[in-house]
Formats: sequence, structure tokens, C-alpha cells
Amino acid sequence: MKTLNDYLTEAEQNHGHMCPGQVLGVRMAMAGCQAVGITEPKGSKRLIVFVEIDRCAADAITTVTGCRLGKRTLKFRDFGKLAATFLNTETGEAVRLVALESSRELARQIFVHLSTKKEQQLAAYKTLPDDCLFRCERVQINLPEADRPGHPLSRAACDRCGEGINDGREVLAADSVLCRACAGAAYYEVIGQVNLDQVEMASTAAGRGGAPQPCVKHNAFISSSA
Ligand SMILES: [Zn+2]
Ligand SMILES: [Zn+2]
Repeated sequence: MKTLNDYLTEAEQNHGHMCPGQVLGVRMAMAGCQAVGITEPKGSKRLIVFVEIDRCAADAITTVTGCRLGKRTLKFRDFGKLAATFLNTETGEAVRLVALESSRELARQIFVHLSTKKEQQLAAYKTLPDDCLFRCERVQINLPEADRPGHPLSRAACDRCGEGINDGREVLAADSVLCRACAGAAYYEVIGQVNLDQVEMASTAAGRGGAPQPCVKHNAFISSSA
């Protein structure tokens, strides 16, 4: 495992700025990995992380652990909490860490000589012991096969919209197989179709100040399928 300062430098680069969330996230990830016996999180094929917030600290946790959505090693649970669970899939050990509300007040009290809340929190989160920053609990995680890294276990198609569905996320209705959106969990409402080629050509024309350039790949596709 790298040092706190090394991770903070990396976190700042990945996230785009330094903030209290980077420090808390890096500290949380370092402590969480250690607690489940993972000393080299990046490149470890044993680590899965559940993050409960989509704010600054989530990026820092990704920086330290290398866990990513696209590798199925990062799971997002939208609870709005500065908390994360670290699972060692080899041993089954898991811990959940949550940032203590009291750490904000501690930062204010101990670093009262610093002028801004941000400076106070940066200083506190870099120096206070883990126990002052986090509560850590041992937890049990039952990670279904269909949620683990590796090739998709199944592939289905929605009877209503026709879109493909991986990993058993389809919903079995009375006499049909539906995607979650068609089964009522859509987060969007379709209001029209977009012709992507026209969007592309229009923006290309505007950007180059000239006539639209047909896409080479697209032309090849058209002539091969004609
Ligand atoms: Zn930030
Ligand atoms: Zn559907």
C-alpha cells in the first residue's frame, strides 16, 4: 500500500481538485482494505467495494482501490451516506466504514486556528486517528454469482422494448420477460428519437466551418450491407 500522501496526490489528479472528501475517501479506503487483509488493493482480484455516495469521496475510494464499475468491482448503493463496504472475496471478510458526524465538529475544535472550514477539515482528516473519523463494523455480504466479476452469466431480451439485458436483471411478468424499465422502474421517459449521424455531421460542420464530412466507417457499413 502507498503512503497517505502518495494516494492524496493521485486522488487530486484523478478527481480534479483537493478537498476534504478526497482525504476522507483515501483514509476510508486504506483503513477498509487493511481491515479485510488486503495490503495491495490495486491489482488485487479479491476486492469488491460498495460505495454509498456519489460525491467526492467516491473518486478517492476508486483511486486507492482501483475498483471500477466497468470491472464489476465497484458497486454503487445510493444511500447518500459517506460510507463504503470492503469485501475480500477470497476470505469472505467484509467491513463497512462510515464517516462519523462528530469528525466535523472535531475538525472545527482542534483546528480552530485555521481560517476556513475546508482547511480545518483537510488538516483534521489527514491527521486524526481512524477511530475519530470512522465507525467500522464487520458485516456479512452475500454477493450473488450474477453480481461478480467475469463473463455475463445470462443474456435476455425485453419482450416490450427489445433491448438486451445481462446478468439476470430481467423481470418475469405473467407471460413475458421485461427489462426493469418496462417493468415500471424507468428513470426516463422517451420523448423522441435522435438520428446520431445527423447530430455528428452538424457538429462536425460547425466545428470545421465546412461541409459535413461523411463518416468513413459509416459509409463502409452502408456499402457492405447494401
Ligand atoms: Zn471534491
Ligand atoms: Zn424493456
